Amino acid sequence: MKKLKKIQNNLPTRKAVIYARVSSKEQEREGFSIPAQLDLLRQYAQKNNYTVVKEFEDVETAKKAGRTNYKKMIEYFSEHSDTRILLVEKTDRLYRNLKDYVNLENYDLEVHLVKENSIICEDSRSHDKFVHGIKVLMAKNYIDNLSEEVRKGLRQKAREGYVTGKAPYGYTKKNKNDTIIDEYTAPFVRRAFQIYSAGNISLEKTCQKLLDEGFCYKNNQPRIYRSQLEHILKNPFYYGMVCFKDEIYQGVHKPLISKELFDEVQKAFKKDNKPKHLIARDFLFGGVLRCANCGCIVSGEIKKGKYIYYSCTGAKRPCEQKHKYIRESVIERQIVEAIERIKIDEKQKSWIQTVLAESFKDEQKYTKTMLNSLNKQKEILSKRIETIYLDKLDGKITEEFWLQKHEEWSASLSKIQNKILAYEKTKMNYIQSSEEFLKICSEIPELYKFANNEEKQKLINYVLQNFLVEGETLHYEYKLPFNFFALGLNCNKKLPRLDSNQQPTG
Ligand SMILES: [Zn+2]
Repeated sequence: MKKLKKIQNNLPTRKAVIYARVSSKEQEREGFSIPAQLDLLRQYAQKNNYTVVKEFEDVETAKKAGRTNYKKMIEYFSEHSDTRILLVEKTDRLYRNLKDYVNLENYDLEVHLVKENSIICEDSRSHDKFVHGIKVLMAKNYIDNLSEEVRKGLRQKAREGYVTGKAPYGYTKKNKNDTIIDEYTAPFVRRAFQIYSAGNISLEKTCQKLLDEGFCYKNNQPRIYRSQLEHILKNPFYYGMVCFKDEIYQGVHKPLISKELFDEVQKAFKKDNKPKHLIARDFLFGGVLRCANCGCIVSGEIKKGKYIYYSCTGAKRPCEQKHKYIRESVIERQIVEAIERIKIDEKQKSWIQTVLAESFKDEQKYTKTMLNSLNKQKEILSKRIETIYLDKLDGKITEEFWLQKHEEWSASLSKIQNKILAYEKTKMNYIQSSEEFLKICSEIPELYKFANNEEKQKLINYVLQNFLVEGETLHYEYKLPFNFFALGLNCNKKLPRLDSNQQPTG
């Protein structure tokens, strides 16, 4: 704090925004009022030589929980890039829920928590920032998981084994939910699988052979395209499955071929695809490296049949790095070094557990609030549906009106139930992701060592970002909060505190 003040004295006055909030419960209690908060924050601003350019306040009532002015404040920051200071009384005035953590994090603000005597910003005490960093990371995971859960609920149809779009070639749709084998086109599909499964024939030649044998693909098409055939041969639908995005479910339709034949064909693809067919994402660092000189993608290729080299694609403008090759192993060695630097010890581990427990409490509070509100909505809807049914029985409303309302409300009700399920599931995921986070922190070098390419990519993306290649050197940044691990954590024996500016006492 002292250090910060010194710097500030040499600067012209800086602009600041004030945010105050009271919850419905606090309203009557003294000392929690809006004027009290404003008073405290204005005094603080004056003492620190800040010009208050805008004040936002939210008063919550039992009826209205929304925070309209909070949203306006965020808008203000996005429109005024010269104002980056935010003054609030304490943490929970600002972050009412986990989403707020993530939202505010995008604005690179200097947040002063006046009563807690801490500043969250680029130069702030590493302890505060570290705690904040872990919380932001966990909140992000939580929100990602939550939306994933909601989406999962919506894919239920595919889950139940029904085709969601058009029937694949070789099948036809009898009605919305019934997909049957089309005896006219199915033989083509069966034969294609048989031919290609031998493993000694290319896609191109398979197409030709099918034509030679008198098969035709779709009416009046003179030839079969390689990509069309590939698409068919890679579709698990033919052995009885249904695909939705990246997931596969057991279908309710009759299979055209056996699972064994399908697997044979997939094996044949591996033989057919020579290394030159590798695409960007098949390389360990495919698509993530950029050239430090020109900013273009640095892509991989195979040399002498086995060594992987990367070089600048020079796609935007001529670049001197274009034909300078760097071995994958040289890049990976630097990645491993970066990863080893963030490994934590037992003492740090227990400290992080404390922070995670704290963030878990935030999550529980948030989930509880959301579930309460959803359950209330559910109750209201159920009651409405019941009442309108009685109205129909009593002849107060028409059958048609009842049906319309019943459908509308039932749809809303099932959406709400889906959300309730999602919140309950995400609650469990939250514990899982804290455990995963801790495991990654304490065992990352070992985890990396035994990981396959895909897992390696995941680990790398979890902790590092902004990769630049300059000659043989890889530049990168640690993601929050891993940058603190890299700097070397300094745990005090007495207090679970991580202030690198502070010398351990006793
Ligand atoms: Zn370049």
